[in-house]
Amino acid sequence: MSVTPTTALPVTVRCPFCLTMNRVDLSRVDQGPRCGECKRPILLDRPLQAGADDLEETIRSASVPVLVDFYADWCGPCRAMAPLLDAFAGAHAGRVLVLKLDTDRHPAAAARYAIRGIPTLIAFEHGREARRHVGMADAAALKTLAGIG
Ligand SMILES: [Zn+2]
Repeated sequence: MSVTPTTALPVTVRCPFCLTMNRVDLSRVDQGPRCGECKRPILLDRPLQAGADDLEETIRSASVPVLVDFYADWCGPCRAMAPLLDAFAGAHAGRVLVLKLDTDRHPAAAARYAIRGIPTLIAFEHGREARRHVGMADAAALKTLAGIG
């Protein structure tokens, strides 16, 4: 059996089920990471819901670009873009981490990032905002934002 050396791509994310913060290795995303606490799968091939408190930690800990969709349930363009974002997260699982933050539930987080219109997409690299896009983004715009276009 051959051993392919891979570089670990750690990130800390919140388990959507039990809300425990988990350190996962994105280079092994195809092996199906599970929550250390409740053992349920942490699915990273789709956007993860983030909260105000865990968002910071995930951005700070991420070794890959993090794309955050600041949205609201009542926002038509946000809903229209959701399938695109799902597909993007699936296509780039392990290379880009896609998060969604509900600005109605987490207004403090929206204020911290100066969100004035939704959807707003912010790409973070090395813990800092790298690029920002306000309004709907298509697949090409998402790639450019994430820095993989
Ligand atoms: Zn869990």
